[in-house]
Amino acid sequence: MDWLKRDEQALMRTYRRLPLVINEGKGSFLIDEEGRHYLDFITGLAVNVVGHSHPAILKTLQAQGSKFLHISNLYVNKPAVELAEKLAERTIGGKVFFANSGAEATEAVIKLIHKWSKQHNFSRKGVVVLKRSFHGRTLGAMKLTRQEGVYQDFPLHDLPVYEVEPEDAKGLEDILVQKKPAAVVMEPVLGSGGVVPLSHEYMQTVSQLCADHHVLFCMDEIQTGMGRTGTLFAYMQADVQPDVILFAKGIGGGLPLGGMIVSPHLTHLFAPGDHGTTFAPSPLSCALGLTVLDLLEEGLLHTSRLRSEQLQKGLADVQAQFPDILDHFRGRGMMIGLPTKGTPKQAAFIQQRMIEKGVLVDLTQGTIIRLLPPLVVTSEEVDLFISHFTSVLQEVEQELNV
Ligand SMILES: *Cc1c(COP(=O)(O)O)cnc(C)c1O
Repeated sequence: MDWLKRDEQALMRTYRRLPLVINEGKGSFLIDEEGRHYLDFITGLAVNVVGHSHPAILKTLQAQGSKFLHISNLYVNKPAVELAEKLAERTIGGKVFFANSGAEATEAVIKLIHKWSKQHNFSRKGVVVLKRSFHGRTLGAMKLTRQEGVYQDFPLHDLPVYEVEPEDAKGLEDILVQKKPAAVVMEPVLGSGGVVPLSHEYMQTVSQLCADHHVLFCMDEIQTGMGRTGTLFAYMQADVQPDVILFAKGIGGGLPLGGMIVSPHLTHLFAPGDHGTTFAPSPLSCALGLTVLDLLEEGLLHTSRLRSEQLQKGLADVQAQFPDILDHFRGRGMMIGLPTKGTPKQAAFIQQRMIEKGVLVDLTQGTIIRLLPPLVVTSEEVDLFISHFTSVLQEVEQELNV
C-alpha cells in the first residue's frame, strides 16, 4: 500500500494533506520519494527559517545532541538561559517563559493575563483579539487537571473574549472603555487570517490606547518572528513596545519551541507552581534557537530583506500582467499573501499547477496564496518562483479565455 493510503488510514484527519510524500529537505527544496525537487515556499508553515538541513543546524544538533537532549526544569539549562538572555536583550528586556509550541505560548499568556487581572482585583478582565486572528488550538488544558494546586488560581471559565476588526481603533477604544478587558492580543501580520499586515499607525494607536487605559499589549509573533518579516520581530518596524511577545514556529530551527518574552514590570506574576511543562525548554531546541539567531544576525536578516524586495518586485510585475486573476500582494518581508480574484477552486488549481511545476505554496482563507519562503532563498530561486508562477497564471488566463 502506498504512503498516502497508509497515512489516511493511520492518522486522524485533522489536516487536509497535499499529495506529497517527502523524503528529504535540502536548502530551499523538499525532495519527494521519486527524487522530485520542490522549491519550498511554505517552509513547514514558517518554521524552517534557515531552510532544510542547514550545515550550522546540523552542527548544533550534533554538538548539543551528544551532551544531553533533556534534563527537565530541575536544573539550570544553559542553552535556555543563553537564548532567553538574547531574546530579552534584543526586545523588551524582562524574562522569558518557554513552552513547546505556539498554542502553548498563547496558553501561557492567558494565564499571565489572568494573574495580572487578579493582581488588580479583576477591575479589568478578559482579552481583546482581532477578527480572523489565529492564536492556537488548545482549549486551556489546565481546566481538565483536577489538582487544586494547578487550577485554583485560574478560574478561567469566565474569561471574556472580545473581537474587533483590524485597523478599527475606535472600535477597540470603545471596548477598552466599556468592557474593561485586561489585555489586547494581536498578530502584527495576521497569518492564517489571510496575511493581513497591520499598519504601523494602527499598531502605534493600539499601543497608546493600551497604555492610556492600563491594558496589557501583547504581540503574537509566533509566525511573524525570527526574521520572517525582515526584522527579528515584526513589531519593531512599527516602533512600539509590547508588554508581552509570543514566539514559536521559526525559533527552534525546526524543532518544537515556543514561549513568551515578558517585560520587566510583569515578570513577578509567575511564581513556582503557576505554570510549566516537562519538556520545555528543550535544550536541543534552545541550542538550535541560538544558532538561528546567530545566522539571522550574521547576515541572513540583511540578505533576506534583499531577496524579499526582489520577490515583491517580481510579484508586482506579475500582478500587473494578470490583473484579472491576481489582486495586489500584501505582507512584509518573507510573509506574503497573494489574493486571487477567482473562486477557491481556481486558487486550488493554481496551487496544484505550482506543485506540478515543483513549487510549494500555501493557501489560506480559500483564495489567498500564502508565501513563506525560507530566508536563505537565493536570487536564482526567487527568479525560478516568478517564472513558474507567471507560466501558471498564463495557463489560468488561457482557460478563462476559452
Ligand atoms: C501557528 C500559530 C499559532 C499556533 O502555533 P502552534 O505551534 O501551531 O500551536 C499561534 N499564533 C500564530 C500567529 C500562529 O501563526
